[in-house]
Amino acid sequence: MNDDTQHDRPTILIVDDERFNLNLLHALLRGDYRILVATHGEQAFEAALGAAPDLILLDVNMPGIDGFEVCRRLKDEPATRNIPVIFITAMHDAADETQGFDLGAVDYITKPFHSAVVKARVRTHLRLKQQSDLLERYAFLDALTGLANRRAFDDKIVEEWNRCRRSASPLSVLLIDIDHFKGYNDHYGHGAGDLCLSNVARTLSGCLQRAGDLLARYGGEEFVAVLPGNDADSAAVIAERLRAAVDALKLPHQASAAGEHVTVSLGVATMAPSDASSHADLLAAADEALYQAKREGRNRWCALAISR
Ligand code: GH3
Ligand code: MG
Ligand code: MG
Repeated sequence: MNDDTQHDRPTILIVDDERFNLNLLHALLRGDYRILVATHGEQAFEAALGAAPDLILLDVNMPGIDGFEVCRRLKDEPATRNIPVIFITAMHDAADETQGFDLGAVDYITKPFHSAVVKARVRTHLRLKQQSDLLERYAFLDALTGLANRRAFDDKIVEEWNRCRRSASPLSVLLIDIDHFKGYNDHYGHGAGDLCLSNVARTLSGCLQRAGDLLARYGGEEFVAVLPGNDADSAAVIAERLRAAVDALKLPHQASAAGEHVTVSLGVATMAPSDASSHADLLAAADEALYQAKREGRNRWCALAISR
């Protein structure tokens, strides 16, 4: 089997201090999955962090850090929190099982193994994991444009505010609003309005290349770009790039007073995040700048310099 085929398969991390059990489970599952093994708790935690497996089969009884403690650590760590854990135990003890479920395990497998049961439980929990991953992805996407949605933005802005505060780097935000879009809908219909929104979204998104940047649909016909590490000068360059890109689409807009085609106005704000201010201040400033761009005639960007 070549490496590509191996990588398409779900990865299972098997943790057991007894070789005999490891070999048994490995032989049982290797035909369908990519298998990683660990023989003690510390190694299990490292492997989970490094390889991000789709499922972990975790022996409860191990010398040193036992399975319960490994599970506790996995659930404490954001990077491994969502990996389902199935405990492997020889004990038929209800109290132990309860403790495992309390720690966030999804299931138990008891020794001696029953091959068909092990396979069925593994398959079930992998399927559930895939479904919940998919749902989580959709929960952060805007259905119409395929961009990140407001919820994704709300998470990102807090995360980047804190990150930029720690690294003493600037954070810029652009609010982007389609000009006279109510008139567009009234004139061309709501379906054409939706198409226009998708077009503008794709164009804006094509203008942002840096991995740390986020473009989200902020609501209605408004978008927001989060630009970590960008100072006021570079944010202004990007704002102009976005404005010009939408302008260059030349999507007809007969109902616009700002021109003959679809245009956007942008509000730009940049701050050096600190304890004395919050991301809400940054957004309020971008909003004020956007309002100014609208007042000054639309199809333009305005920036607010903030010194706090
Ligand atoms: P301005 O230049 O001041 O921004 O004017 P505007 O007409 O764009 O602003 P206003 O806030 O009055 O109107 C926004 C319009 O955007 C109204 C609303 O029907 C439309 N809109 C919001 N979300 C959607 C959507 O998902 N699809 C469509 N087709 N239209 C939408
Ligand atoms: Mg608006
Ligand atoms: Mg508008």
